[in-house]
Parts: sequence; structure tokens; C-alpha cells
Amino acid sequence: MQGLLIVLNAGSSSIKFSVFEAAGDAPPRALYEGQVEGLGSHARFEAKAADGTSLDEQRWPEGEDLDHADALVFLDGWLAPRLQGRELLGLGHRVVHGGLRHAAPVLVDDAMLAELEALCPLAPLHQPHNLAPIRAVREQFPGLPQVACFDTAFHRGQSEVEQQYALPRAVTESGVRRYGFHGLSYEYIASVLPQVHPRLASGRVIVAHLGNGASLCAMRDGRSIATTMGFSALDGLPMGTRCGALDPGVVFHLLRELKLSPEEAEAMLYRESGLLGVSGVSNDMRELRARAAEPRVRLALDIYVHRIAREIGSLAAALGGLDGLVFTAGIGEHSAETRAEVVAACGWLGLELDAKRNAVGGPCITQGDPAQRPSAWIVPTDEEGMLARHTLALLGRR
Ligand code: ADP
Repeated sequence: MQGLLIVLNAGSSSIKFSVFEAAGDAPPRALYEGQVEGLGSHARFEAKAADGTSLDEQRWPEGEDLDHADALVFLDGWLAPRLQGRELLGLGHRVVHGGLRHAAPVLVDDAMLAELEALCPLAPLHQPHNLAPIRAVREQFPGLPQVACFDTAFHRGQSEVEQQYALPRAVTESGVRRYGFHGLSYEYIASVLPQVHPRLASGRVIVAHLGNGASLCAMRDGRSIATTMGFSALDGLPMGTRCGALDPGVVFHLLRELKLSPEEAEAMLYRESGLLGVSGVSNDMRELRARAAEPRVRLALDIYVHRIAREIGSLAAALGGLDGLVFTAGIGEHSAETRAEVVAACGWLGLELDAKRNAVGGPCITQGDPAQRPSAWIVPTDEEGMLARHTLALLGRR
């Protein structure tokens, strides 16, 4: 197939887009990408070419708040002249929840859109934003094919033992179970593991996706065995502003004793906790590392690393051992100190840091022969590239 693909990742306060060129059987090639951020407050737009050079930047003045619909109209206006003369093959969308039924991306028609909308109660903060552009594009360009790619899909092959909570059967059957997220990132990493090292492709690997959101995925033979996020994207590791795993008793206490409403408690656990909540300073790892001498910042960093190391232990147990640890996403790819501290805390698993290679970006950051002993690696993720590949594959199969 020959033509262009647009990939959209619509979140609660931003819409990210990428434009890819498809030609023949080769993987789609990124042409440019950008985002409208700060929706509902101070909106900003920027777009970059694939090599990182800036193409355009805009800021909207105070009081001129953009909502999601405004941002889509703006993006349509920005993209239209740039797409002229080239065939647009279709759009790929990142959709957080595919429920139990979807272990692979789907083409979206009206029935599928209704099915995905019915999953909104499972991810009320994300799913409606993911689906709004699909509906808007369907209304304006009814003939344009659209593909939904799910963050949950990669984990659907996990065992029932892994996916079920110890809750009454009726609650499980109502849909309360571990779904897991960041699946597009994990799937991309799984797809490149054979090029990273053959032992990782067929072995027991833990991937640490450490971005603003963060989770771990245990993989065997490139398939998801277990993951730290569960029913929601709150579970598992502490994150930039999310608390990670929490005794559910804390939630009752917040509601009953501290008199928070469910919405206030939710906002606290999603937006005011994690690195930001503990440090009182920032959710940005760069700023925290620069101020690591401050006691509250140091404590936030220590909790973050300790909890990652503990969960790595838990996933190593699920895998029955460890052959490789892979760091990815903003912090995993760029914060050498965080990688060094996590690897040091995982010495008991046989990992031994190679400080020089860690400082220069790896890709292997541990000592010894990875064919003979556990190793740790840096592998950049590419969720947009994965979306483009899926979209092209599905359009090709139509
Ligand atoms: P998202 O989950 O929004 O896609 P990213 O994967 O971009 O987020 O990760 C964002 C995180 O990566 C932030 O905490 C940011 O501070 C961190 N980060 C980005 N670059 C660096 C860097 N050079 N050093 C340390 N941390 C970095």
C-alpha cells in the first residue's frame, strides 16, 4: 500500500499526532509529529520533523482556552495543506481499553464504536478522550478507515490466575480484573528484542516502561506473562503524579475519615501523588535529579527506585527467574542515575552495572556476557510506530 497514515493519541489534556508514509511492505516511515497540549488551560502547539527540527509552534493567549474539539479542528486545518496531493490511507488511534474481547487492533465501524464506548466506565478518565476523535472523524469523513489499537491488548494472553483478583465471582464477571496497560510500548519492545539479543527474544525478560506513567511487564518468548498495572492505570509502580499500588483500606480512610468525595480521592491518587506528592517539588525526573540533595526529593527518588526493585522481584517470581531487564520510555531511556540505582537494587538477581556503558546510553548496561548471565539494556520505545504498523496491517487486510 502506498500513501499516508495519521496516528492519534488523544489524552485528557493533549492530542498527539504523527504522520507516516507507507510504501510497499516496509514498516511505515515517520514524516512528522506534533501535539496540542494544555487543553482546557494554556494551549500550546508544536510540530517537528522526524529528525527533530521544529516545523511550527503556537501558543494561545490566556483566556482563549482550547477544548478537544477545537484542537481537532485546528489539527485538521494544520494537516490538510500538508497532506494535499497524497492519498490518506487511514487513521490509527491509541485507545486505552479493549476490554476482555480484544487481543488485537480492530477496524472501527459504528457497532465497534458503540462497543468501545460501553467500556468507558472501565477507564473513565481516558477512554472518552480516546474515542472522541474517532467519532468526530467518522462524522466528517465517513469513508476514511480508522483503526483502534488498545493498551490492554498485549496482556490478554496472560493466564487466568494472573488476570483475576481474589474477589467474589460475580464481581470478577462484571469486569473487575487485571487488564494491564502500556501494551503498545511492550509490544514494540517485544518486536525488537530479537535484534537486541537472541537470549532476550526467547527468554525471561522484565521491561520497565518508566515515563510519566510507569509499569513493568514480565515477558517470556516476547509474550506478556504479568504486569504491574491492573484494573486501572493507578496500580503498581509510583509514577510522576500517581500513587501506584495502595492498600485499598487507604481509599476507605480518605473517604470516611478525611471526608474526601470519590472524585477528590481519585484526583489525589492520579494527579497529586507519586514523585510529585512525596517530593512536593515536581513530577519531572530531570528536576528531581537536579535537586536530589533536598531531603524530600531524595525520599521521593528512593521510594520510586525501591518500589521498582520490589516489583521486579515480584515479576521475576512470576517468570521463575530473569534473563534480561529492559529500560524504556522517558526516564528509562534518559535517566542514567535511575537505571544505576535500580540495577544496584537488583544485584541479587545477578545484574552488575557497567557504569561507563550506562552513562553513554548502552544499549547493554551490565557487565559480563548476556548469553551467560542476566543483563540490563536500554531500548527506546516507539508507541506511534507500533500504531502505524498495526494500522497499515489492518488496512492491508481489508
Ligand atoms: P509520557 O508517559 O508522557 O509519554 P515520557 O515517556 O516522555 O512520558 O517520560 C517523561 C519523563 O521522562 C519525565 O519524568 C521526564 O522528566 C523524564 N525525562 C525525559 N528526559 C529526561 C532526561 N534527559 N533525564 C531524566 N529524565 C528525563
